Amino acid sequence: MNILVINAGSSSLKYQTYDMTDKPVVTAKGVCERIGMDGSVLTHKVGADKYVTETPMPDHTAAINAVFAALTSDKGGVLKSMADIDAVGHRVLHGADKFSESVIVTDEVEAVIEECIPLGPLHNPANLAGIRACKAIMPGVPQVAVFDTAFHQTMPDYAFTYALPYEYYEKYKLRRYGFHGSSHRYVSQRAAEILGRENDPDFKLITCHLGNGSSFAAIKGGKCIDTSMGLTPLEGIEMGTRSGSIDPAILEFIMSREKIDVSEMTNILNKKSGVLGVSGVSSDFRDLDEAADSGNLRARLALNIFDYEGRKLIAGYAAALGGVDAIVFTAGIGENSPQIREHMTDGLEFIGISVDPAKNNIRGKEADVSIDGGKVRVLVIPTDEELVLASDTKRLAQ
Ligand code: ADP
Repeated sequence: MNILVINAGSSSLKYQTYDMTDKPVVTAKGVCERIGMDGSVLTHKVGADKYVTETPMPDHTAAINAVFAALTSDKGGVLKSMADIDAVGHRVLHGADKFSESVIVTDEVEAVIEECIPLGPLHNPANLAGIRACKAIMPGVPQVAVFDTAFHQTMPDYAFTYALPYEYYEKYKLRRYGFHGSSHRYVSQRAAEILGRENDPDFKLITCHLGNGSSFAAIKGGKCIDTSMGLTPLEGIEMGTRSGSIDPAILEFIMSREKIDVSEMTNILNKKSGVLGVSGVSSDFRDLDEAADSGNLRARLALNIFDYEGRKLIAGYAAALGGVDAIVFTAGIGENSPQIREHMTDGLEFIGISVDPAKNNIRGKEADVSIDGGKVRVLVIPTDEELVLASDTKRLAQ
């Protein structure tokens, strides 16, 4: 069984093909960049081989056509024809409170994804374009939508309701939704497997997804009870270029003094803030580490803020859960930065969290990095959102 998974952004489209006949095997993957712009390019990878094709991609349909051409090409193709694809899984950013799990895309599902565009104005239109392009090119092949928000739908109302006039919730569905759902779900299931706590309703876990965007989740018995991103991915911890949570009054303060409008302010909060804004150096944590080590005080400050905010979130979620059995670090930073794992947990010994510096000196692989006999297991688990997409797609298509 061949499954194609697609993660469509506004100007990029990532894809991966799986042979799911036995256990999942990735057969090819790639990315289309600069969709809708000049100089669009497709990079297709099969094992260690890489094929780069410059081809016009004025829209997502053209990008999907280019992907299909790459997948069936004499050079680097892995399929005889697109009829060999049995089902397609699409990552969809926002499903609001309509979807608590993945679904087969029907006309009604498409309509709801469209309804959610105001909540995910950059991503949902791209996700829809990807779905529509696949439907047009491969009619009759099941399309599955996997929502970033779905895993967090189990949060109680007191965790997802903002203290604003209630009518805004009623009128606009303004509430916390949370994101990175497939990642939190994948690593929480792996953690339960590793620790032999599957189906244990008392297993208390905190997952820390630390990448360009970062979010935390408090998970009890496999169900999310709180998460740090909100209505949009802007809320929570300081990120690569996003501010995370700040005093809401700051917006008016800056806008009136700098004479900027709402869209420019939103752009500043999303693209010019976070560790990039504080350090003035980079949004990439490798650059920050290097700058901080060579004495750049603002790079050090940006890292200190990240560690401090993360530490408060972990301790806060331990309180929300009424204790904690394990924490998981995942995504680019969580998987690859021993320093962040050590500094973020520094001072959390009082709730039983202690990292062993020797065990923690690993990158990009599963490991238990807590001290021997530590009360709370500290795990590193590389995330695999694509596998979640492929597995859900296989299950629903069958
Ligand atoms: P995305 O949210 O785009 O999927 P990733 O999960 O790939 O992001 O994470 C990207 C981040 O991971 C970047 O900030 C990058 O600096 C960071 N990262 C990758 N490798 C390392 C490393 N060895 N040390 C510190 N940070 C790292």
